[in-house]
Amino acid sequence: MTTSSTNHTERLEALLKEGRVLKPSEEFRRQANAGDPAIYERAAKDPEAFWAEEAKRLDWFEPWKKVLEWTVPWAKWFTGGKLNAAYNCVDRHAASSRRNKAALIWEGEPGDSRVLTFGMLEREVNRCANALKSLGVRRGDRVAIYLGMTPELPIALLACAKIGAPHSVVFGGFSAESLRERINDAKAKVLITADGAWRRGSVVPLKASADLALEGTPTIEHVLVVERIGQAANAAMKPGRDVRWRELVDSSSPFCEPEPMDAEDMLYILYTSGTTGKPKGVVHTTAGYLVGVAATHHYIFDVKENDVYWCTADIGWVTGHSYIVYGPLANGTTSLMYEGSPDFPDRGRFWSIVEKYGVNILYTAPTAIRTFMRWGTDWPAKHDLSSLRVLGTVGEPINPEAWMWYNENIGRGRCPVVDTWWQTETGMILITPLPGLTATKPGSATKPFPGIAAEVLDEKGQPVGPGAGGYLTLTRPWPAMFRTIYGDPDRYVEQYWSSYSGKYFTGDGAKVDEDGYFWLLGRVDDVMNVAGHRISTYEVESALVDHPFVAEAAVIGRKDDVKGQAIAAFVTLKESSPSADTLKQELKQHVAQKIGPIARPDDIYFTSELPKTRSAKIMRRLLRDIAEGRVLGDTTTLADPAVISKLKRQYEEKGNSE
Ligand code: ATP
Ligand code: MG
Repeated sequence: MTTSSTNHTERLEALLKEGRVLKPSEEFRRQANAGDPAIYERAAKDPEAFWAEEAKRLDWFEPWKKVLEWTVPWAKWFTGGKLNAAYNCVDRHAASSRRNKAALIWEGEPGDSRVLTFGMLEREVNRCANALKSLGVRRGDRVAIYLGMTPELPIALLACAKIGAPHSVVFGGFSAESLRERINDAKAKVLITADGAWRRGSVVPLKASADLALEGTPTIEHVLVVERIGQAANAAMKPGRDVRWRELVDSSSPFCEPEPMDAEDMLYILYTSGTTGKPKGVVHTTAGYLVGVAATHHYIFDVKENDVYWCTADIGWVTGHSYIVYGPLANGTTSLMYEGSPDFPDRGRFWSIVEKYGVNILYTAPTAIRTFMRWGTDWPAKHDLSSLRVLGTVGEPINPEAWMWYNENIGRGRCPVVDTWWQTETGMILITPLPGLTATKPGSATKPFPGIAAEVLDEKGQPVGPGAGGYLTLTRPWPAMFRTIYGDPDRYVEQYWSSYSGKYFTGDGAKVDEDGYFWLLGRVDDVMNVAGHRISTYEVESALVDHPFVAEAAVIGRKDDVKGQAIAAFVTLKESSPSADTLKQELKQHVAQKIGPIARPDDIYFTSELPKTRSAKIMRRLLRDIAEGRVLGDTTTLADPAVISKLKRQYEEKGNSE
């Protein structure tokens, strides 16, 4: 990214403006799961020994023979070992003193809740596993899952794992077409879905979308249908193909032997969010994945035996797979899952859930935090949040002001904030603070997890100096890394392993500061080139969010005859902000002051919503399409197409810019 020395200096200046450092508390460190800083050195010295030690968290039917076999870019971890992921997440806890401990706490849309102990979860998983067997699912067959956030979702995942059938979860907000594409790519044999899902009091007709998708899915033999809605869903059942969960699962036997899986057997396929383009079917295998998510969950969230841990993601994304289901349950943790949205029935919903269950660890996303900022501090202030001990964030670079807001208004200054960088492909968190050990800097994901090696490189593959931007790469294999793209090993090699020999190319831009801290700058494609200066959209967005009236911003570079690219900013204001018009100049000035005149936005557009993926990430590529007058690219992963059409109209009228 940055090559010339003038750019170097400029970037360094921008970086140094974010100078806040929050020291870890000694009191926290003393009780922390990762309280001993020697963990970094130990893991760096002999990463394989480190991961072998972590692998003891799991129960193995047969021990592994070799920790790692690595022939770039093909990794095998814990070869020769045999184990079962569901056994590790459920059965072994159900057979211990944790039998009657809550495994899952489910908070449904208002009025509904359900607690499943490890003993209860074991029976439900086994019933579902036996039901799948009766539908002809065998070890190795793929099962597609298209459900809302109800307990049947983790039950279905674990049931698949129990019998060795890889699952492929498709987020319940996806359209029929997206579902069909993913079912066909994975050649799934059975689909598990529901008559519908609740969203802000109204019904999302999952079964109707599924039926539409199934018009073109030759491999699906049966559909297992959860009744979440009942009569009101008015869902049609196709005789011979569709079976009701309540009839089949509830009447199946609650006993099922776990399938002993090879360490490298596929656990699941999951399609990436599609922020940058066509989703890829990421393949995760059994042992390395489970070791990676269990270890990271233990250290990064500092989870204790009696904690209530809440990750607010949807299980349709990797965050839900790794940190609602597999990581926490492998560790015997009580994992909370929530069906609804943050503003239903009111904007205090998250905080009332924290209060209701005494949540100790909260893991959410920058997009949610920026939304809460927009809504103001009164909502969290109304609730008792004193149970919280650790706060996490994931999904996008977090703007320093959003980080501070989270720290102050939710953590009340007491809770370490862990900004965790990772991807669907990485399976587990890779860059993160360890609470109690790592001094944090708002906006920085800090350092690679023990045993992980990351480097920021320039175009030629040379490490960049402190403060300069470059490409984030990973230089050593890690246990939860994906093994391939399903059905497309060439794409695996080309997209991820061809830019720098022997190194994994993440597609993200980053810089490392003089303390060795990593600052994620967003996707490489999102970096702008303004009059020869490389400027990251994230930095301009963060400067905008730093302004007291701004809640959220999306910045793009649009073609400009003179400068190559000009900066356009789409800005969402806090609800308490005064009228917008006088603000444009002020915001431009604010950015120029924070970063430098070169980063001053050329256009500012005010909007009440930004276009986001269904996983709630800002989708800049569509804004670029609008700004450059192109036909919009792939919009299937967009959460709300109305937002982008409105912006397109607004942009075309131009009157709103200056
Ligand atoms: P696609 O690969 O299909 O375009 P996606 O990259 O959005 O979609 P995910 O795997 O869900 O799909 O997201 C991973 C990406 O999210 C990372 O590559 C990075 O850009 C961003 N990300 C995640 N966590 C962080 C974080 N803590 N800080 C900065 N960026 C993050
Ligand atoms: Mg990606």
